[in-house]
Amino acid sequence: MTCLDQPPTPSLARTTASDPRLLSKPELPPSFPIIWRDSLIYEHARVGRVFNHRRPSRYPLAVVEATTEGHIVEAVRLANQLSCRVSVRSGGHSWAAWSVRDDAILIDLGKFFHFHLDGETGVLEASPSMTGRMVNRLLEPHGRMFPGGHCPDVALGGFLLQGGMGWNCRVGIHDICNTQRRDSN
Ligand SMILES: Cc1cc2nc3c(=O)[nH]c(=O)nc-3n(C[C@H](O)[C@H](O)[C@H](O)COP(=O)(O)OP(=O)(O)OC[C@H]3O[C@@H](n4cnc5c(N)ncnc54)[C@H](O)[C@@H]3O)c2cc1C
Repeated sequence: MTCLDQPPTPSLARTTASDPRLLSKPELPPSFPIIWRDSLIYEHARVGRVFNHRRPSRYPLAVVEATTEGHIVEAVRLANQLSCRVSVRSGGHSWAAWSVRDDAILIDLGKFFHFHLDGETGVLEASPSMTGRMVNRLLEPHGRMFPGGHCPDVALGGFLLQGGMGWNCRVGIHDICNTQRRDSN
């Protein structure tokens, strides 16, 4: 038996067959990077970037692999329209894989990058998907560093919300002056 012969997990089979939202999907621009639960590449989108290889039995309705702020706004609008919750993934290092929520629209920020260092004020803007390693590589030529996680692949999004134990412990959280929230308005 090859892996292609294996049936989908019972939970996935049950939810795709019975979910009316997958039968009449809302119209979206063809370029919108959404992967619905009945797609062949869904499983990779669901957990491919989760660090812990003990995969959760939770199945979002769809995954939006956002590359722009517009995609994030559109994903939140879509979740409103479908009466779903939204979940977010930055670096995927939550051990419990909290980004993976049943029937949610999962916004995966793994391909959304923004980095700007203001030379005058020294204030850094960075997207939640940027990891400690990425940020510090870009800051090094400017003689600066960010006290991200000791594991360099932890991303800023989860680190600032649920981590914060960085080089020179806890300095990281204290230096944050602003975060941006995206909603459907
Ligand atoms: C191997 C490993 C090493 C680690 N080392 C350290 C360390 O040295 N120091 C430390 O402090 N922690 C460490 N951690 C813990 C880590 O900081 C937390 O698990 C952190 O939450 C991971 O962030 P992430 O963005 O990579 O993970 P994710 O799984 O993407 O996100 C973690 C949580 O934050 C939420 N979230 C992420 N981005 C957003 C967003 N933009 N908006 C709203 N919610 C969001 C997710 O939904 C999820 O609930 C480590 C974890 C692992 C697995």
